[in-house]
Amino acid sequence: MRLETKVLIVGGGPAGATAGRVLAASGVDCIILEKNPQGAKPCGGGIPFGAFEVFQLPLSVIKRRVNVIRVSPPKSSPFEIRFENGYIGMVERREFDSVLRDMARAEGAAVMKGAFVKIRECGKTAVLSEAEIEGQTMEVRSEYLLAADGVNSRVRSSLGMKHINSLYTLGVKLPLDGNPFRGNCCEFYFDASARGGYSWIFPGASNVSAGTGSTNPKKLKAGLQRLLLQKGFPPDFQTNSLRGYRIPLWEQQSLVRGNVLFAGDSASHVMPFTFEGIYYAMRAAQFAAEALIQGNPGLYRKLWRQRFRARFLLMKTLWTAFLRNERGMETLLSAFRDERVQQRGIRLWLDKTEGRGSFVSFVNALRKYVLF
Ligand SMILES: Cc1cc2nc3c(=O)[nH]c(=O)nc-3n(C[C@H](O)[C@H](O)[C@H](O)COP(=O)(O)OP(=O)(O)OC[C@H]3O[C@@H](n4cnc5c(N)ncnc54)[C@H](O)[C@@H]3O)c2cc1C
Repeated sequence: MRLETKVLIVGGGPAGATAGRVLAASGVDCIILEKNPQGAKPCGGGIPFGAFEVFQLPLSVIKRRVNVIRVSPPKSSPFEIRFENGYIGMVERREFDSVLRDMARAEGAAVMKGAFVKIRECGKTAVLSEAEIEGQTMEVRSEYLLAADGVNSRVRSSLGMKHINSLYTLGVKLPLDGNPFRGNCCEFYFDASARGGYSWIFPGASNVSAGTGSTNPKKLKAGLQRLLLQKGFPPDFQTNSLRGYRIPLWEQQSLVRGNVLFAGDSASHVMPFTFEGIYYAMRAAQFAAEALIQGNPGLYRKLWRQRFRARFLLMKTLWTAFLRNERGMETLLSAFRDERVQQRGIRLWLDKTEGRGSFVSFVNALRKYVLF
């Protein structure tokens, strides 16, 4: 059995669904192949309000609006940052991803349940892929393939590309009611058990996502236990909702390989330090789709670099210098006690329509505390 399309999109998460939506809106024939449409990716589901504006997303998917963050440094006292404008919209990933795929479908993209297996041939004008669709092995012939299949990308392994370096995470869902959580507050905890990352508490619709991210997977259990103890759970607290997953650590990657393009987690498009990935996956996919609409895959690299390279490099520098030990964490977080740094940092994070000016003003505010 054989299928033909101009662009085969592997993965129907934020990146894949967005690419399908943009391509189909311009009349480009595309198939989104999603292996697990009922699945819910382990994810905090926090999306800055600016992303809803940029992508004109329905606000009905927002389960909670967060307008305070609480930061706990390793040694010094915790502090809170209140947002003057804007909020983080908390979504449930199963519903959010499905709404994104519906939006792509409404523009005319074909959305199929099926798993990409491998690339059989990657020529100058076509890519031949093998997929399992409704129990049948199919050959899919496409002019381009867009890999949006996440951090464990099968497209990458099929092309023999290197594994994506990651932060390891271990998370759990906890009941919101009867526990000491606030529905409008995301909490971030920094200490040695979350080296290179942080522990978090994010409110959802009916529960709370709590977890730890670290470059050292052996520290995860201890980090999560410590977080739960801090929140008043007993040391022998048992749960059956524990889930581990990986978050890409951004590195400069090749985004285009012949007729194959990579966007989102499959290209490590997660902002270092904050580990925000949903918006950046969607933006990268949008750029990739725009490049394909122009018939110029190389344009994708240019669009991404122009818009995001400087920010990713800065955040990677901060991550490398400050998030790897408790002294560094204390130094950097102390800068965020300054209201100017707080508000400029928050604006940069939340308001996605802000241009280069907000990036420069954040860097200038931070310079007082950090040499880079
Ligand atoms: C614990 C945790 C918490 C996080 N919290 C946040 C947060 O609060 N905010 C935020 O912005 N980011 C967060 N992230 C990061 C965010 O989840 C990702 O960056 C984002 O989901 C990337 O989107 P994507 O479309 O590239 O990949 P994914 O969301 O991983 O989607 C990939 C899709 O491809 C499908 N797929 C995979 N293989 C195949 C195949 N062979 N064939 C067909 N389909 C396939 C999968 O089923 C999946 O639907 C978090 C990540 C983790 C692990």
